[in-house]
Amino acid sequence: MVTMNCPKCGAPFEYEPGMRFKKCDYCGTMIYIDKSQVMFYYIIPFTIDSKQVIQVFRRWASGPKMEKGLENSRIKNVKAMYFPVYRFVRDVDGKEEVMVKPAKTTLLPGLSNLKIPPGDMKIFDSSFKVGNVNVIHPDLTMDTYQKNLPGIGKEQEIVYFPIYEIRYEFQGKEYSVVVDGSAGEIFTSYYPPRSSVPYLSIAMLTFFLTAVGAAVGTMVSASGWLLTIGGLLAGIGGGYYIAKKY
Ligand SMILES: [Zn+2]
Repeated sequence: MVTMNCPKCGAPFEYEPGMRFKKCDYCGTMIYIDKSQVMFYYIIPFTIDSKQVIQVFRRWASGPKMEKGLENSRIKNVKAMYFPVYRFVRDVDGKEEVMVKPAKTTLLPGLSNLKIPPGDMKIFDSSFKVGNVNVIHPDLTMDTYQKNLPGIGKEQEIVYFPIYEIRYEFQGKEYSVVVDGSAGEIFTSYYPPRSSVPYLSIAMLTFFLTAVGAAVGTMVSASGWLLTIGGLLAGIGGGYYIAKKY
């Protein structure tokens, strides 16, 4: 047993070597213990509720780069969670740099490259109500990253980051996006690609008309050339029309 003091209220507590997480018996503060270091848990509150996040999704889905009708996708599930990340403040050649790394193995996009405004961080103690939001616990240790990070460590903490995972269905397939629950930013690595069928069919039409033109051209040279040029013009015009329409 080793005795340490709560970084918030100063109350002593004991812990077993190897223990990483402890809740202060006096003030309820969650404490992270890493070797000889004791540190706070921080949490960033949600500022977007589960109705607003659907509007965020629909706005994103109706963007100019998106497939038509994506904004009307059927929402299957909206899940709110606090996702743990480590925030490292390091001195790199005399310059302070902040690095954020996931504290939990995840396939969700965007979480390995988060920006955390320090002003949004609240100490995670018993006065913070998580409600029915799922708090995900870390399964990666701080040391996993620390030995590979540049510079010298100045400060490190665990921050619980608010996210929504939205699962939706579009044209019979299921997709998901992760939305930052405080800033409303969308993180995603994959979404329905804009259809490439019209471009492809125009290319094939151009090819076909050109081929017909060339074939006819071997028989009747004048009209063959006209068809070839006609085919090319139809291809260019059609392509332009489709590009403007989609
Ligand atoms: Zn305490």
